[in-house]
Amino acid sequence: MKPALRLIGFMCLLAGCLALASATTAFATHRLALYAEARQYMVEYQLHRRGISDPRVLAAMGKAPRECFVPPGLASLAYGDHPLPIGAGQTISQPYIVALMSEWAQLKPGDKVLEIGTGSGYQAAVLGELTDKVYTIEIREDLAREAAARLDKLGYSQVHVKCADGYLGWEEVAPFDAIIVTAAVPRVPPLLTEQLKEGGRLVIPLGHHGCPQTMVRLRKVEGRLKEEARLPVRFVPLVRPPVLEPAE
Ligand code: SAH
Repeated sequence: MKPALRLIGFMCLLAGCLALASATTAFATHRLALYAEARQYMVEYQLHRRGISDPRVLAAMGKAPRECFVPPGLASLAYGDHPLPIGAGQTISQPYIVALMSEWAQLKPGDKVLEIGTGSGYQAAVLGELTDKVYTIEIREDLAREAAARLDKLGYSQVHVKCADGYLGWEEVAPFDAIIVTAAVPRVPPLLTEQLKEGGRLVIPLGHHGCPQTMVRLRKVEGRLKEEARLPVRFVPLVRPPVLEPAE
């Protein structure tokens, strides 16, 4: 082939590649814009109009990219008004419940918060938008590893993930200004009460697996827990090793 023809062929190939690359970039930008729009719609219609009023919580929910915390095949459903499966029989809570738990935790910047039940890492990311000291415990190794990698990739360096039994809390970094438990348990694990600061908030769904459960906000007053708010809910159970039976 003549050098001139070879050059024209090469230029055409290059132009084709560049067109494809810019189409892909445009598509990715368009997708990001669509998710951002869905997120703002979720904040307004599922949260604000239903009574979530803390502007910091609304802003946090408007920032954390929920589509990155659900399995790729379910990303288009990320902003629906429902929980979604995240693998291993576990679920990421409905956006309203994540927002309500965050609001009930009453976090100020600089507060130290513990979450039990990392799951996908989404609730931890929302907490990470509210304070720079977030500790989260997941009992399943695969979920803990994936959530840690996901949070790291998204830049949530203020969130620390540990694979352990959350029933025991995280003594080395206690006490906490707030503790959020995202799995249901019949009674408050005693070590969680111990690891809560005086005046601290514990947000926890209480009840047996498969039975009606109640999410409560408890405040530690003079060493004892005092109930401040409640809501009927349905959560997966908090389990205990080594057999992963629902916690008693
Ligand atoms: N907060 C999560 C969803 C929680 S689902 C999110 O935003 O995606 C409840 C999680 O609690 C599950 O991942 C489950 O594996 C975990 N879990 C159950 N028992 C636990 C225990 N004893 N300690 C820590 N995590 C536990």
